[in-house]
Amino acid sequence: MLAGMTPITAPDLARRRLLKTGLQTSLAVGSAPLFIRHALANTAADVERFALGLASGCPRPDRMVLWTRLTGADLPAQVEVKWELAEDEAFSKIAASGSEQAVAADAHSVHAEPSGLRPDRWYWYRFTALGARSSVGRTRTAPAPDATVARLNFAITSCQRWDHGLYTAWGDLAQQQELDVVLFLGDYIYESAAGAAPVPGQRSHQGGLCRSLADYRQRYAQYKSDPLLQAAHARAPWIITWDDHEVDNDWAGDSSQGLESDFPQRRVAAAKAYWEHMPFPKAMRPRGHEIRLYAHYDWGNLARIIMLDDRQWRDPQVCPKPGRGGSNTVALQDCPAFADPKRTLLGSTQERWLAQSWDASRPWNLLGQQTLMSRMNWQENPDKQGIYWTDGWDGYPLARQRLLNDLAARQLPNAVVLGGDVHANYVSDLKADFDDPKSAVLATEFCGTSITSQGLDQTRINRALPHNPHIKYGRSDQHGYVRFALQAGRLDAELRSVQSLWLPGSPVEVSARFSVEAGKPGAQQVG
Ligand code: FE
Ligand code: CA
Repeated sequence: MLAGMTPITAPDLARRRLLKTGLQTSLAVGSAPLFIRHALANTAADVERFALGLASGCPRPDRMVLWTRLTGADLPAQVEVKWELAEDEAFSKIAASGSEQAVAADAHSVHAEPSGLRPDRWYWYRFTALGARSSVGRTRTAPAPDATVARLNFAITSCQRWDHGLYTAWGDLAQQQELDVVLFLGDYIYESAAGAAPVPGQRSHQGGLCRSLADYRQRYAQYKSDPLLQAAHARAPWIITWDDHEVDNDWAGDSSQGLESDFPQRRVAAAKAYWEHMPFPKAMRPRGHEIRLYAHYDWGNLARIIMLDDRQWRDPQVCPKPGRGGSNTVALQDCPAFADPKRTLLGSTQERWLAQSWDASRPWNLLGQQTLMSRMNWQENPDKQGIYWTDGWDGYPLARQRLLNDLAARQLPNAVVLGGDVHANYVSDLKADFDDPKSAVLATEFCGTSITSQGLDQTRINRALPHNPHIKYGRSDQHGYVRFALQAGRLDAELRSVQSLWLPGSPVEVSARFSVEAGKPGAQQVG
């Protein structure tokens, strides 16, 4: 193997066949869109070079980013990779093409950036390298900023822990023909070491705790070997942010949970591997440990999508357990630091940027961020009033208040906060004062459940919900994603959940439906 190369543990043939069968079961291949059938047809010939699939992201009216990473044990240090973007699935009308140099120093990742494209239309893309051709992905441009747009179909997704279940939810998402864009809200990988599989005989992490660049690259390669995740990437462009597990559980700015002194170097490795494996442009390449993830995207005159990063510039969590960093669950009365107005979750630069990014000219503002914004009081004992988990917005209550006050002052017609992280579906009213039942509802919140990652026991949530009347729905026993249809007058949400995390091809059901009427913040359950 060449120096600087990362070993990719490609699945052996038997396992590959097994995964392929899983994909076919789950996608009911006869009805699968053509591009997924291409992927299957090409698997046998080309898997060594494009074993991690492809992806697209960052959709703008005239461009997007196309991603792949070459695989195989004998890769030269530098490889030319050709890419093509076509207006049709048969590639008879090429809209743009070019080539990129995939280099070992960037794990042979490719970040191609076609530009000058037509707004609001679908495209198909593929790669060629070393005599092999990739499968075909579908992607699209955003509508022009001033275009009248009738509809935006999108999904929120997060938390795909490999050893907590099969990616059946991704297979379901890949079948959503009309999906325009996928928002991924964090925990693309989990950094933890291989452990005993929670279900004996089921899949587990390869390797130890991710600390080095090679460790993180190997973990991304393992996750991206899954054909259902690959099919979800091939369906539509993604807009992506990260949370803690792309680096370290509960990290906060310069501090890791274990307060290790080598955390700065670990952040550099994690940020580089993250950029290498996401459909991000070259300009987003990290500078040292920093990667600029926060951004906004416009969908014609219908919506602005704002994506945040609440990890890189946050203050450490208040009142941690003795001798360590990271989260804790503590009573307000035992931790005066909760009330420190200087504490920030976004950092002052991003806070100012967000304040300037809200767009009152569009009917909808969608705020993608990592976690539950709503207050969640875990109180069970009447003596200890107000018990909060310190890693989410509840650990930064005055930062949350600043954000909500700002929302209220701007009189945005419809702000919708979208989140992940907590491995449960929550639908909530975001209020000026969560303690006052008469306080105005300022925004609607959908915090989507995990693709696979296990959540808290549902009985704990059931005991806490009566202390949180602004939370209308809270279910940690559901795994999947939330699919949305947005129109000027309304937002419809469908909470889609897998029946079984470990049954290949498990049915996916709609657990609940909610809708938000324009001008009336707060979701109403339908049916
Ligand atoms: Fe998670
Ligand atoms: Ca998380």
